[in-house]
Amino acid sequence: MIFLIAEHKDNKLKPITSELLVFAQRVSRDFSQPITAIVLGSGATAIVEELKSKKVDRILTADHEQLAEYNPDTYVAVLQAIINQEKPFLVVIGHTTQGMDFAPRLAARLRKPLIAGCVEYEKLGDHLVLTRQIFNAKMNMKTGLRGAPPYLATASPGAFPADEVEAGSNAEVVQFPVELTDATRRKVVGRVEVPKGKADLSSAPIIVSGGRGLKEKDNFSLIFELADAIGGSVGASRPVVDAEWLPREYQVGSSGQTVSPKLYFAIGISGAIQHLVGMQTSRCIVAINKDAEAPIFKVAHYGITDDLFKVVPALTKIFKDLRQV
Ligand SMILES: Cc1cc2nc3c(=O)[nH]c(=O)nc-3n(C[C@H](O)[C@H](O)[C@H](O)COP(=O)(O)OP(=O)(O)OC[C@H]3O[C@@H](n4cnc5c(N)ncnc54)[C@H](O)[C@@H]3O)c2cc1C
Repeated sequence: MIFLIAEHKDNKLKPITSELLVFAQRVSRDFSQPITAIVLGSGATAIVEELKSKKVDRILTADHEQLAEYNPDTYVAVLQAIINQEKPFLVVIGHTTQGMDFAPRLAARLRKPLIAGCVEYEKLGDHLVLTRQIFNAKMNMKTGLRGAPPYLATASPGAFPADEVEAGSNAEVVQFPVELTDATRRKVVGRVEVPKGKADLSSAPIIVSGGRGLKEKDNFSLIFELADAIGGSVGASRPVVDAEWLPREYQVGSSGQTVSPKLYFAIGISGAIQHLVGMQTSRCIVAINKDAEAPIFKVAHYGITDDLFKVVPALTKIFKDLRQV
């Protein structure tokens, strides 16, 4: 059995859950293992309904008022009980802030290894081999799993394409009897949303990012205009943020946001490794740079080697004209 831990917020599945579904559905096919989606929450019926439309064999819900808000103590306690009872083959979790918080604790509690940040897997004979990126995504490491299951793995956002989720309708819904004491070490006292302004990059399907090649803050209006014409969100490289042309939440890269849109424009961005690790899983990358040797062209699907001050206004005009047609 393959477990996937559904990540959700405000009664909606988070995008990473679709990616986990793709991961689980592929492993399920290769290893002939059924899928159980695990939903921890309180009154999460909308989540269960959303999952019912996906190809999973079973939805196991753990419903308790103490699970209304994410808390690593309660998550680990409940998941440990479920895993000990059900003995799955593989447990897949998002490599997200939440997943990275509870997955290592859960692995330690179960005394099982955790393969973190997986981007791919393969089947070697009867064995599962998981691939994860190391050294700032400069190298891939394949990890064979030894010992008895369950195996725990977190999947990097963007590694498994969310739009390839298979639909279904026959999932059985089962309730797991939750037993929790009040003795949690942490209590959520409130949630403060990060002010995101125009830079809601985590789920943006199109991102138009600008870099130091824009030369000065005022020129960034070119990026906003192109983003507006194409219906995308604006992103930036770190020097743009360090120079205070834009606030920190716009930054893409190892010390900023990791994004995986369908379309990513890198404009006046050289393609330093710290930027690439934040965007290289984008489905289609378009680079505009006057330097034909810029490393960004190594990951770009389409490249324009020219002066951005010529190319960007021309592109904006084309997209605006297309909108009017
Ligand atoms: C610990 C650490 C963490 C970091 N984290 C991040 C991070 O999260 N995100 C990030 O982005 N960086 C990060 N960096 C910085 C990173 O190493 C690079 O310095 C940075 O990505 C470079 O930004 P850039 O491409 O905008 O600028 P540059 O490297 O200066 O590149 C500018 C590009 O613009 C092109 N250009 C110039 N003029 C034009 C023109 N008229 N038309 C077309 N092209 C033009 C140039 O050819 C050049 O390729 C980090 C660095 C460290 C050490």
